Amino acid sequence: MSNEKKIPYKIYLDESEMPKAWYNLRADMKNKPAPLLNPGTLEPMTFEELTPVFCEDLVKQELDDTTPYFEIPEEIRNFYKMYRPSPLVRAYCLEEKLGTPAKIYYKFEGNNTSGSHKLNSAIAQAYYAKKQGLKGVTTETGAGQWGTALSMACSYLGLDCKVYMVKCSYEQKPFRREVMRTYGAQVTPSPSMDTKIGQKINAEHPGTTGSLGCAISEAVEAATSTPGYRYVLGSVLNQVLLHQSVIGLETKAALDKYDIKPDMIIGCAGGGSNLGGLIAPFMGEKLRGEADYEIIAVEPASCPSFTRGKFAYDFCDTGMVCPLAKMKTLGADFIPAPNHAGGLRYHGMSSTLSQLYEDGYMKAVAVTQTDVFAAAEQFARVEGILPAPESSHAIKVAIDEALKCKETGEEKTIVFGLTGTGYFDMYAYEKFHDGLMTDYIPTDEDLEKSFAKLPKVDK
Ligand SMILES: *Cc1c(COP(=O)(O)O)cnc(C)c1O
Repeated sequence: MSNEKKIPYKIYLDESEMPKAWYNLRADMKNKPAPLLNPGTLEPMTFEELTPVFCEDLVKQELDDTTPYFEIPEEIRNFYKMYRPSPLVRAYCLEEKLGTPAKIYYKFEGNNTSGSHKLNSAIAQAYYAKKQGLKGVTTETGAGQWGTALSMACSYLGLDCKVYMVKCSYEQKPFRREVMRTYGAQVTPSPSMDTKIGQKINAEHPGTTGSLGCAISEAVEAATSTPGYRYVLGSVLNQVLLHQSVIGLETKAALDKYDIKPDMIIGCAGGGSNLGGLIAPFMGEKLRGEADYEIIAVEPASCPSFTRGKFAYDFCDTGMVCPLAKMKTLGADFIPAPNHAGGLRYHGMSSTLSQLYEDGYMKAVAVTQTDVFAAAEQFARVEGILPAPESSHAIKVAIDEALKCKETGEEKTIVFGLTGTGYFDMYAYEKFHDGLMTDYIPTDEDLEKSFAKLPKVDK
């Protein structure tokens, strides 16, 4: 204890200590994530097939599973300097409140206007679109964080930005919508009547409140049918995990400064981008046999792709216009119940994380939303930050693990990702405070129904 360096409340890095390259976790995986497949031929998607949809440099990153480091272009590093490095906070107040011997740290990614980690990849994707000379990009957004981040990145670079926003969020989160419009984005509720696929989904499911899968199909159609546009995606894809590795690299650099070795790393998982980014350098050490860490993904019990999904090729979108990805999935048809307020609604999980999970390199836990909001409130009251519901999944499990340490007396070091702030989620907080929040857990029959529609792929 005596020769242990005093750990500050916040560990910051100097500008000169910020990462200069992203780390590509796939380079160290023996079992590489399965390739994206062309849904027609069931052959791996080629560069030529992907570039009509995605920007060229991003396709290169997507397909590259051998290059360990990609230099971060200087323009992106300069943009990062506006809101990075993000602090690694020692949760002294939470530890004290819990009375735990565990040492808890969180990496806080909510210190920018978009309020989440999504800006880390938005600026990278917008940069490569601009570099290619494109006019604009299209995308989908669920809760709105990705759309907000992309709007900010596009306005910074002078690119046009069209966002298809899941209809229930568009209606429930008017402020998110207005933030996007403040940054110049065009925001359309999805499913809309502007695209063929939107018209079809509206006809088949009248009154539907939409899903990420529908909005993705619309955004892809809009990109491929408008000259000078490409589609960008805020999670799930390998390129997004690559950009988000900046979170983990900074976390590791901050911990190394004080010779701290975490025992456990916890992150919430929607499509897997913040978790994949946070764990990247630690998982790299684990894959290379240099160190061991316990890595835990936390997902909502209402959308449990890791813990109850199938590891199979599936469509990434409802309209089946995207390539097939091999992942832990609930089926592209799966739509979480509308009473699910806590984000993380996507039916599938990053192929990279799915493969690592299948190979036993990480665990996953599913938690209910009332427990998540209780943890969020407990955290807000002692640490001050008002967390996003998504981030609060990680808080919930970090608290649970710290309480286990209290029982056993173990002084584990726990690091978790605090991905963002929850100011735009106050309707959900209100429901929780009024005792009106309910928990929804799909039945096995619900899941079997969507599993039955998985594409038949023998790979
Ligand atoms: C989008 C989002 C997530 C989940 O997405 P991942 O790709 O799984 O990281 C988590 N937290 C916040 C605040 C988000 O905006």
